[in-house]
Amino acid sequence: MKRTTGQDRSITAKWRPATRAVRGGTWRSDWGETSEAIFLTSGYSYEDAATPADRFAGKAPGMTYSRTQNPSVQMLEERIALLEGAEACRTQASGMAAMSTAMLCQLSVGDHMVVARAAFGPTRWVTDNLLPRFGIDCTAVDGRDLDQWKAAIRPNTKVFFFETPANPTMDVVDIAAVCALAKQHGITTVVDNAFATAALQRPLDLGADVVAYAATKLMDGQGRVLAGAVCGSADFINTKLLPFQRNTGPTLSPFNAWLVLKGLETLELRAIRQAENALEIGRFLESRVPVLNHPGLPSHPQHELVKRQMRMAGSVFSFELDGGRQAAHAFLDALEMVDISNNIGDTKSLMTHPASTTHSSLTPEVRADMGVTEGMLRISVGLEDPQDVIEDLDRGLKAIGA
Ligand SMILES: *Cc1c(COP(=O)(O)O)cnc(C)c1O
Repeated sequence: MKRTTGQDRSITAKWRPATRAVRGGTWRSDWGETSEAIFLTSGYSYEDAATPADRFAGKAPGMTYSRTQNPSVQMLEERIALLEGAEACRTQASGMAAMSTAMLCQLSVGDHMVVARAAFGPTRWVTDNLLPRFGIDCTAVDGRDLDQWKAAIRPNTKVFFFETPANPTMDVVDIAAVCALAKQHGITTVVDNAFATAALQRPLDLGADVVAYAATKLMDGQGRVLAGAVCGSADFINTKLLPFQRNTGPTLSPFNAWLVLKGLETLELRAIRQAENALEIGRFLESRVPVLNHPGLPSHPQHELVKRQMRMAGSVFSFELDGGRQAAHAFLDALEMVDISNNIGDTKSLMTHPASTTHSSLTPEVRADMGVTEGMLRISVGLEDPQDVIEDLDRGLKAIGA
């Protein structure tokens, strides 16, 4: 393997984001391939017996086993770290592997954590059901309200965890304010940045300690693979996350790593175009639905905050229909083009009814607390001509007489 400039931080540190997205992290084999290679290997062989001994002892660089290192995976990790402005990154097999690893690697029995209540459904399952089984208490707060974060702090609070904008209510958390509060109390902040990605929002620049990703979403961006990533300081990644990860094994496959690596090359182009399309579609819906949760529009109660901490508001938003679940399902059933799908961040526009899909594992009380109503629909806007999406949504609205 030849190290290229993409692996040299003294060079990549000077590159602008678009260059990092295309060349960051690249390694080349002796063949000199221009596209990054896929190393589908679980193990590595050595010239002599002393080499693996040195690598296992941490005295020499190099790969030992693909649960811990793989060249294709490392290229992706370096590229994500560069885009995020992080010292280090480790990838996982899915977004939920990333979220649960980011929590479990730093929490122990007797610790306490605070989570913003509007979060991805499985994230809330982990905080509400899994962590308490291991003696880790979790308090859910309205992430928009700094006083609730403050009031939830206990002497044993170790982690603040939030997602912004949050799925599916589009609540926005003031990243700088919550991270500053956490710092005062020696609490580590973890931000799930899946909805925005580094193309639109950089939590580390705003004071976050750790950024966790479902790379399944905008990073791959083409709906092909599951992947996750956790970014942070070299100290956090190497002393907390890595020991947990190498021994429990939520490792990303090299093939999936390669797909996400190639996805990152067009991340910024896609994220911006999809956000522009989402604005156009949001403006159409504004006069047609009783409630619209679109952080990119001035009607969103936190629009000023969005403008402060995001480059654009992203491609996902939600709205409510009168008539509850029945109307929401009838709307979806009337669509001809937009797919009924609970995924997001694809090039294809997708819509889902959160209460009966992504958030169905939560109790009705937790759903109500989060603001996930029976009449709510979520849309992830893709790269189609937005006019075609608007015509399809118009079909859905007419079907329910709206
Ligand atoms: C999808 C998603 C996850 C989980 O990612 P998977 O790859 O599906 O496990 C976590 N957080 C957010 C905000 C997501 O959208």
